[in-house]
Amino acid sequence: MSIIGATTGELLSRLERGELTSVELTTAYLDRIAQQDDRVSAFLTVNTAEALQQAADVDRRRQAKQPVGLLAGIPVAIKDVLCTKGLKTTCASRMLANFIPPYDAHVITQLRNADAVLIGKTNMDEFAMGSTTETSAFKITRNPWDLDRTPGGSSGGSAAAVAAGMSPLALGTDTGGSIRQPAGFCSVVGMKPTYGRVSRFGMVAYGSSLDQIGPFANDVNGAALLAQVIAGHDGRDSTSVNAPVPAYSQTVNQPLAGLRVGIAKEHFVEGLNPEVEQTLRTALQVYKSLGAEIKEVSLPHTSYGVAVYYLIAPSEASSNLARYDGVHYGHRAEQFSNMIDMYATSRGEGFGSEVKRRIMLGTYALSAGYYDAYYLKALKVRRLIRQDYDKAFEQIDVLASPASPNPPSKVGEYSANPLAMYLEDIYTIGANLAGLPGISVPAGFTEAGLPVGLQLLAAPFEEEKLLRAARMYELATKWQGQRAAL
Ligand code: GLN
Repeated sequence: MSIIGATTGELLSRLERGELTSVELTTAYLDRIAQQDDRVSAFLTVNTAEALQQAADVDRRRQAKQPVGLLAGIPVAIKDVLCTKGLKTTCASRMLANFIPPYDAHVITQLRNADAVLIGKTNMDEFAMGSTTETSAFKITRNPWDLDRTPGGSSGGSAAAVAAGMSPLALGTDTGGSIRQPAGFCSVVGMKPTYGRVSRFGMVAYGSSLDQIGPFANDVNGAALLAQVIAGHDGRDSTSVNAPVPAYSQTVNQPLAGLRVGIAKEHFVEGLNPEVEQTLRTALQVYKSLGAEIKEVSLPHTSYGVAVYYLIAPSEASSNLARYDGVHYGHRAEQFSNMIDMYATSRGEGFGSEVKRRIMLGTYALSAGYYDAYYLKALKVRRLIRQDYDKAFEQIDVLASPASPNPPSKVGEYSANPLAMYLEDIYTIGANLAGLPGISVPAGFTEAGLPVGLQLLAAPFEEEKLLRAARMYELATKWQGQRAAL
């Protein structure tokens, strides 16, 4: 059976049985990148030498019957927003084009401890701001299912890498949907854990109260395993929660009896593509046939979500990105007339237009006189949104919705209309505002062959339930294992 497209579980058992070495496996993925990435452009950096070294090291230890970690010898692609010691971390920005971190993000340490192979760094929207991976300063990533379309974003490179068979696993980050939406658009699995479940230490911050790191995989079990490896307490992130990490990879295959699947009546609104809606309805039928109960719930503040998110996320971003001034961090202009001009010119040259738009929006929302009207108001509505979910999860186990109201956009479709792009985040941002875990699983294709994702959300720290519910669906449908014909 071929290496490319195999699930993480299959690869691990072949490695364990000695049918395959990690060097062979890593070489197969590196070859695939060499063959396909000219067209897909998922990677910013391919970590060839170190990856092969890590693979050889795992092989040696495995052959010597020494203990190895949970992901021993398995390649993982890393979104370029996560700091990797000695390996360029650009956030797809000119601002950090030459930044080589002196330390690893917590999740990278966890990957190294699990003996994973760090295969490369993936493209993204600049500083994770966007939904298409088009705001990258370096390249536009293409959707492997249709190269004229975007893979979604901001973790589009990671999603496309897994969809194109260039890595079995990848890490992304999700501030407003950046794991779940590209997972849906690329027909792979992507999960955003509960806020606090995974340490953000070493993730370049976008909206600190919303950001979480999570897995991409070509099946739910792979996502469960990678989530288990990266989750857990870390004293270097004060919001990291000190609670034991369940063995997601072990419980994921246990089906849930008496599962209550919710749908929100506010989610069936104008602007929801009919084929996407039909996919959701079909998915609900699948759950019904598995014995689940389908329940309608209400999330009355849904329509405020986009506005609240696009006040809070840019406000936090304007503060987080203040450090890129050419002195503390980042690109410094070569020509300037005085100190203030040096800051302004450095920032002007280093940031792209979407990032500048967010910084200006956020600075405005936080400024004296507008703070109460915009930022503070948004925080209050955020609380109401959280309460809507709390109430809903008293009656249901998981909430089902599309990951995105429309199929993947054409490259360039939103370039003149950022607001239209922001509105597409309606189904994903709620989980970030409320801190909930969410997953997107492949749910089929439109007539034109474009992937559609099913999103499931759960109450805080219910990742186990979420993964089990997603796995039940995956096993009952035929979407897992379908690969883009590149
Ligand atoms: N599309 C959203 C935004 O542009 C979400 C991005 C993200 O989750 N990083 O902000």
